[in-house]
Amino acid sequence: MSGEFDIIVIGAGIAGASVAAHLAAAHRVAICEMEERPGYHTTGRSAAAYEPNYGPPSILALTRASRAHFEQGGYLTPRETLFFMPPWQEQAFAGLMAVQQGMEEISPAAAKARFPLLKDGYAKRVVRDPGTADIDVDLLHQFYLRLFRQRGGVLRCERPVSALEKGVRWTVQAGSETLSARIIVNAAGAWGDRVGGMAGRKSIGLQPKRRSIALVQGPEGADIMHWPMVGDVGETWYCKPQSGKLLISPADATPVDPHDAYADDMTLAEGIERFAQAVDHQVTRVERTWGGLRSFAPDGNPVVGHDAEQDGFFWLVGQGGYGIQSSPALSRLAAALVLGEAPPSDIMDEGLTLSEISPRRFLDRTAPA
Ligand SMILES: Cc1cc2nc3c(=O)[nH]c(=O)nc-3n(C[C@H](O)[C@H](O)[C@H](O)COP(=O)(O)OP(=O)(O)OC[C@H]3O[C@@H](n4cnc5c(N)ncnc54)[C@H](O)[C@@H]3O)c2cc1C
Repeated sequence: MSGEFDIIVIGAGIAGASVAAHLAAAHRVAICEMEERPGYHTTGRSAAAYEPNYGPPSILALTRASRAHFEQGGYLTPRETLFFMPPWQEQAFAGLMAVQQGMEEISPAAAKARFPLLKDGYAKRVVRDPGTADIDVDLLHQFYLRLFRQRGGVLRCERPVSALEKGVRWTVQAGSETLSARIIVNAAGAWGDRVGGMAGRKSIGLQPKRRSIALVQGPEGADIMHWPMVGDVGETWYCKPQSGKLLISPADATPVDPHDAYADDMTLAEGIERFAQAVDHQVTRVERTWGGLRSFAPDGNPVVGHDAEQDGFFWLVGQGGYGIQSSPALSRLAAALVLGEAPPSDIMDEGLTLSEISPRRFLDRTAPA
């Protein structure tokens, strides 16, 4: 098969798979993924939550604009979220209430009726978000990969991109293969800055941050599957039912270099301790743990757009802890921008400001040395 493409997308997580599916409608597109299978890194390790009040304004706009796709495809299972305010988190509570949409304050007693483990006296106040849901991440990811293949896209796994060279076209060294394309889309997740470096760009300051998760046994005999997602408003722990167990995260955000992440046991133990302060339930057995990398640009907004100086190099990184819930709209937007088309009006109507997510905001920092 020829190694010549219009567009090569680096990374087959949710970002790469979804943008590639759109681009493949009218172009010859390849995805190069360094692992054996797509979704091995952050996409396969998320908490799978749709939270329309979580993230900076750019993400909230993209998340709202994604809802219709999620609903049409049956990817969401409603699960409300309760945010508890212990006495020492009044400021965080005020901050959330100032920006939230569609939430309502409920009494601690009403919260306990929904989440029976809540310890009396832990939550001084409680706010409920009825608009949150579980996302079937695998179904969503597979949908985009299938659409990509149906449209003639070529997925190459075990193809770590190690060098990019710009001539009239880009030459891409991917494992033992040499490919070429007019446009490169950098959807390399935590490795986004490394791939930028291969294209001759300086760091945009993309910082992977580790988040750890434990799956633990719920209380014996309790029907936990319909319990809400719960957490403290200061985001020092959260918990939600998953696969018949309770998923608990210490909500850690430890800066690390890109790597195959694993849970930090000490951080997990501390998070489970904070959870234990909030509930009448003893965690006796941890069934499984994992870690993943949430990658952030310095200002917390995603980085989406053509590089200001390197022709044909497109950034799609920095989705932080919201890359699944925003992916349907973000991928449509990114595909339009890759092709130099106008951004979809339904997404812009949600209040997105393109300059907030453009890589041009790092112009000084990304100029070649
Ligand atoms: C614990 C945790 C909980 C989360 N919870 C949520 C949540 O509830 N809701 C939500 O919306 N988001 C959540 N997120 C965030 C979400 O998972 C990410 O934003 C999203 O998965 C990022 O997708 P991605 O495709 O950019 O990255 P990835 O899935 O990491 O994909 C990048 C891919 O690029 C590949 N790659 C890198 N370098 C190269 C190279 N040189 N050559 C070839 N391939 C390369 C990697 O192998 C990888 O497969 C969570 C994240 C974590 C860690």
